[in-house]
Amino acid sequence: MSSAGFWDSLCEVHGGLSHAVMHEAGHAVVAVLLDFVFEDVSVYVDPWAHQVEIGRVRGGGVRFSSPDELERIVQADPKGSAPFFFAGVLAERAGFGHVLDRSFEVDLNLWRTYADLVGGQTPESIESAIGESVGALIATTNEILRDRSSELLGVCHALGEHDEMVLTFEEVRSIVAAF
Ligand SMILES: [Zn+2]
Repeated sequence: MSSAGFWDSLCEVHGGLSHAVMHEAGHAVVAVLLDFVFEDVSVYVDPWAHQVEIGRVRGGGVRFSSPDELERIVQADPKGSAPFFFAGVLAERAGFGHVLDRSFEVDLNLWRTYADLVGGQTPESIESAIGESVGALIATTNEILRDRSSELLGVCHALGEHDEMVLTFEEVRSIVAAF
């Protein structure tokens, strides 16, 4: 399957690439607001080129200076870091009314893994471990995205219009600061 065919197959209405841009812009804006310094945020125009690197086809991501860096951020504050992880799928839902398959599952599982909230955990045990329910954290993240919808759309456009679909932390920060 071609790259264009891959992206088109993910959503016939909006195109999968639009979903991926909105999703990654959501992560990037919330990272800036929480002062989580990353290297860059990108959407993989050619997802097949990244297949080997990560073992499966993936649409993009926020890249930190090292994989340990994101784990360190989550371990330091599991509750406070959750909006960064949830912002991708929630931006997508806010923008398009639906999300791509597995869009939330992957990010939620990554947060849970870094926060040591895997294996036999229930919604109740997660709530008692971090002091807030996942539902409440989703509501908090939706509020942030609503308050910052102009910033979100600004980053979305900049990322979508960039030839290589990549923005550095400084580029995202300056877009967010412009509002
Ligand atoms: Zn769609």
